[in-house]
Amino acid sequence: MIKISNVSKWYGSFQVLTDCTTHIEKGEVVVVCGPSGSGKSTLIKTVNALEPIQKGDIVVNGVSIADPKTNLPKLRSHVGMVFQHFELFPHLSVTENLTLAQIKVLGRNKDDALKRGLKMLDRVGLSAHKDKFPGQLSGGQQQRVAIARALSMDPIVMLFDEPTSALDPEMVGEVLDVMVQLANEGMTMMCVTHEMGFARKVSHRVIFMDQGRIIEDCTKQEFFGSPEARSPRAKEFLSKIL
Ligand code: ATP
Ligand code: MG
Repeated sequence: MIKISNVSKWYGSFQVLTDCTTHIEKGEVVVVCGPSGSGKSTLIKTVNALEPIQKGDIVVNGVSIADPKTNLPKLRSHVGMVFQHFELFPHLSVTENLTLAQIKVLGRNKDDALKRGLKMLDRVGLSAHKDKFPGQLSGGQQQRVAIARALSMDPIVMLFDEPTSALDPEMVGEVLDVMVQLANEGMTMMCVTHEMGFARKVSHRVIFMDQGRIIEDCTKQEFFGSPEARSPRAKEFLSKIL
């Protein structure tokens, strides 16, 4: 589904990613973790070409992001992304947030977009809030709307970048519950998160990054079950968060 091959990236003269190679299969849930500044957000943004790469290639569902002939907006329309800071349009209602890209990017008519959007809103448990504006919702609710908005586009994969780290603790659970449900339904997911409970519960693989490199890429069982076999940096990280 996603094949990341020998990806390197520089911000000016600073090399932020070095020779990253991994893959995500259909239906797989992969958690990406690692210290602050290790390149997790940058890596996930390269997958839908929000950040360009200078070396290597990423192939999403058979389409290469490095190929100049690739229609990147089209590719992005199939890749759902949810960030740390809820990026809803503040001046649009929940319903308008849910339908805008479906109409503008996918060319759906208003009725179809509304139907699809409300179905996804129901799925995240927020049907009652359809006419509110983002500012009238809690952070956890906004993040669930952001997930519903991404799902309304019928994504083939969902990318999450620390979707719960800006939330008050009591709201983390409601967002994780939605993510767990998605994972259990077989959605292909790449999630940057420090929520190791989530990783243990639903992930298939764990990628650990340090200084722009993927230094662990193993099954959940290997990552959590045999810490003695992990690299020193991963061991140190695990000892702090577990
Ligand atoms: P965190 O856990 O804090 O979110 P991260 O692993 O997501 O960290 P990135 O945000 O990918 O790390 O950043 C990796 C490195 O690249 C950091 O050293 C950061 O300062 C640098 N960096 C990120 N974005 C830019 C940018 N637009 N221009 C220059 N340097 C950047
Ligand atoms: Mg980050």
